[in-house]
Amino acid sequence: MKRMKTVDCDYFVVGSGMAGLMSALHLASYGKVIVATKAKLADCNTNFAQGGICCVMDGGDTFDKHARDTMIAGAWLGKSPVVHEICEHAPEGIHDLIDCGVKFAKKADGSWDLTREGGHSARRIFHAGDITGEKCEAAMIRRLKKNGIEYRENTIVIDLVTTRKLGMPGANRCLGAYVMDKESGEIYAIRSPNTILATGGCGKVYLYTCNPDTASGDGIALAWRAGARIENMEFMQFHPTCLFHPQARRFLISEAVRGEGAELVDKRGRKFMHKYDPRGSLAPRDIVARSIDSEMKRTGDDCMYLDIRKKGRKYLTERFPNIYAKCLEFGIDMAKDLIPVVPAAHYTCGGIQASTDGRTSIEGLSAVGECASTGLHGANRLASNSLMEALVCARLTAARLAAHPEAKVAVEIPNWKIGNAVPPDEAVLVAHMWDEIRRLMWDYVGIVRTNKRLARAAHRLKTLRREIRDYYFRYLVTPDTLELRNLAVCAELIVKCAQKRRESRGLHYTLDYPRQSKTAKQTVIEGYRG
Ligand SMILES: Cc1cc2nc3c(=O)[nH]c(=O)nc-3n(C[C@H](O)[C@H](O)[C@H](O)COP(=O)(O)OP(=O)(O)OC[C@H]3O[C@@H](n4cnc5c(N)ncnc54)[C@H](O)[C@@H]3O)c2cc1C
Repeated sequence: MKRMKTVDCDYFVVGSGMAGLMSALHLASYGKVIVATKAKLADCNTNFAQGGICCVMDGGDTFDKHARDTMIAGAWLGKSPVVHEICEHAPEGIHDLIDCGVKFAKKADGSWDLTREGGHSARRIFHAGDITGEKCEAAMIRRLKKNGIEYRENTIVIDLVTTRKLGMPGANRCLGAYVMDKESGEIYAIRSPNTILATGGCGKVYLYTCNPDTASGDGIALAWRAGARIENMEFMQFHPTCLFHPQARRFLISEAVRGEGAELVDKRGRKFMHKYDPRGSLAPRDIVARSIDSEMKRTGDDCMYLDIRKKGRKYLTERFPNIYAKCLEFGIDMAKDLIPVVPAAHYTCGGIQASTDGRTSIEGLSAVGECASTGLHGANRLASNSLMEALVCARLTAARLAAHPEAKVAVEIPNWKIGNAVPPDEAVLVAHMWDEIRRLMWDYVGIVRTNKRLARAAHRLKTLRREIRDYYFRYLVTPDTLELRNLAVCAELIVKCAQKRRESRGLHYTLDYPRQSKTAKQTVIEGYRG
């Protein structure tokens, strides 16, 4: 039988967002790096980040204050030493971006123009207008290309190859992965003593999300299937006001719009927030998201609305030029119309259990960025802490790997087996299962949870997982079936973690256990052992 193609490298980086590209840039001088990414390089959450990146650089602010704000936002579930370590390393991360050519905003006197966001006790957010992510991504891509680092676009990782899967004795070690070239359909192996997952979160597991299509939780599912420990998946952060329009996927209506006087109303223009919180429409993010969700469930309506008509066109076009123009693109004139909004899955706080320097429970496998759970975010992420985490952990992971060079993998990776699989002839099944998961997660495992809803979700997901497994083995794999399989694993991990947590804390709110326990415990799920 013909041997499958196997490509070797010293560092195999999966993903091309902030975490992946920064890891690759740091590692390039220590050995051969290959970056694989399942779409184009810039197709990732990083490219959509608007607000900025937290970092205490100087002035009256301190690392301790930043760490304290992070712990408070995370409802004291954050791991304090991790929080301090990441906050303290943030300046190095910002300098790494400046070295790549990112021009963060400055004031007229040449000092940094730092902004402040909800939950921060000081101005400490570096930004490049309201397109910080895009600017950073472009700068890192330019540097990647300039440094001649090998990258493979449209290359989706199918599964990790581990010694345990190959039946080898000793501790479980990652040897690389099977990947698929999405254009040619070819499946081959990338073999490496160091695989770094930087695959982002799983916002796509929910019906409404501001995440791009790449966020299907692949890395978390790959790691779990390979036997890695997963943590805190119940904590999914929802942004309260994502524009609700079929063509406007991912567009957020900034919280500043409420700050400037917009009221949340139902389709008849009636205010409803006062029923939930005395601060009305100015209540914090998680309460607003919960209230909108509750009104949508009560009325059966698809969305709620923001009303800022009273401010008039002149004010709105000056204060919110980007949001005004975007809404108008979709036929919504903020000066005359209500703005339809829904809460949307925004950020995955949990993920693959990892140390700040990327170590996971599997040797040879690192995890960095949104796919990792380091303990920084605890039960809720503080605004603009995620890019900071990706930057810092990419740097620390690269330093650890560079300090302990590994020999090349000598094990021969077996051919990818297709068994009796035939080309798929009913893509509608995949589309249907995909929709079903996202709808059931939204309805049963969303912002407000109950034991009954979680049990229903668990039951249905178990059946769906069987159906997906059958489909997966019966037909030749396609990128859609791979993502569906991963999405289903992430959905189950979220439900399992939510069922384990018998309290309400941070982003996990359940009517059956509405109080927060005195002690804060991480939720840990062991990796697959089958
Ligand atoms: C609208 C929006 C606004 C945001 N604003 C901010 C902000 O202001 N500040 C902040 O700190 N954070 C913000 N965030 C969060 C932040 O953008 C993300 O947490 C961060 O970018 C994650 O970076 P990452 O490198 O871990 O993942 P990503 O940037 O998502 O990159 C993941 C990469 O992995 C690739 N990939 C996934 N699966 C596979 C596979 N199977 N095979 C190959 N490749 C794969 C993807 O294609 C992608 O390239 C925002 C997020 C969104 C969606």
